[in-house]
Amino acid sequence: MKKSVKILSIVLALVIVIGCFAACGGKEEPKDESKVLVMATNATFPPYEYVEGGEFVGIDVEIAKAIANKLGMTLEIKDVDFGAIIGGVQSGKFDMGMAGMTVTDERLESVNFSTSYATGIQSVIVLADSEYTSFEDFYTGFDADENPAGVKEGIKIGVQQDTTGDIYSSDVPAKWGFGEDNVIRYKTGADAVQALKSGKVTAVIIDNEPAKSFVAANDGLKILDGEYANEDYAICVAKENTELLESINKALAELQADGTIDKIIKKYIPA
Ligand code: GLN
Repeated sequence: MKKSVKILSIVLALVIVIGCFAACGGKEEPKDESKVLVMATNATFPPYEYVEGGEFVGIDVEIAKAIANKLGMTLEIKDVDFGAIIGGVQSGKFDMGMAGMTVTDERLESVNFSTSYATGIQSVIVLADSEYTSFEDFYTGFDADENPAGVKEGIKIGVQQDTTGDIYSSDVPAKWGFGEDNVIRYKTGADAVQALKSGKVTAVIIDNEPAKSFVAANDGLKILDGEYANEDYAICVAKENTELLESINKALAELQADGTIDKIIKKYIPA
């Protein structure tokens, strides 16, 4: 009797161990979770990502959905502060970051970027009746190399925190920035635009398409002629997640080749 109980318990233990290997071991993750592609964004950036009728919409949202489709995954969007995207991607909290995000050397030290799917330009928004008519107007004069010598008294630049608008503006005047002290950082581009309307800042430096959206949605604003900086937008992925990066690049190439990306961009940015 005793012996058979012992054998039975050994058999039972083996069944449990083998069962666990089959169910939870190896590479097979629980089905539903492994099929979700978590994208971090900041949905205050029209026409790339914004909320309309309680839904996330925009160029990035649609391209991300098309990528997820190609990968046989369901897209899940997390709306976070722009500055929290890269850290969250690095730590594995999010699979990828897609937020009209510019590829920069500094960001490349923390994350990898996909191939670029769109381009952007930094633009300058001022009040329609602003005394400043060009970007050069913000500076006191120029040195022998034609770089700004200094910033005019009282100039304050509003930016969305942690964006390239913030990074460039915070640089020294000799590098076409305004110096840390003359930059006021806001959580969203919309907040920076409100600050411009209420006279707290002289100008807002932000990507051109959101700039156009903000100017269209608010009376009394205009975009200064000229381009402050040209940029490439791409999707960021954790350094070690090379498998996902390759899958995203492959999907992007296919979506570019079959015209899907072009169609999505044209839907939101009519020529
Ligand atoms: N393109 C800018 C950047 O990458 C702004 C992006 C954003 O505000 N969503 O910093």
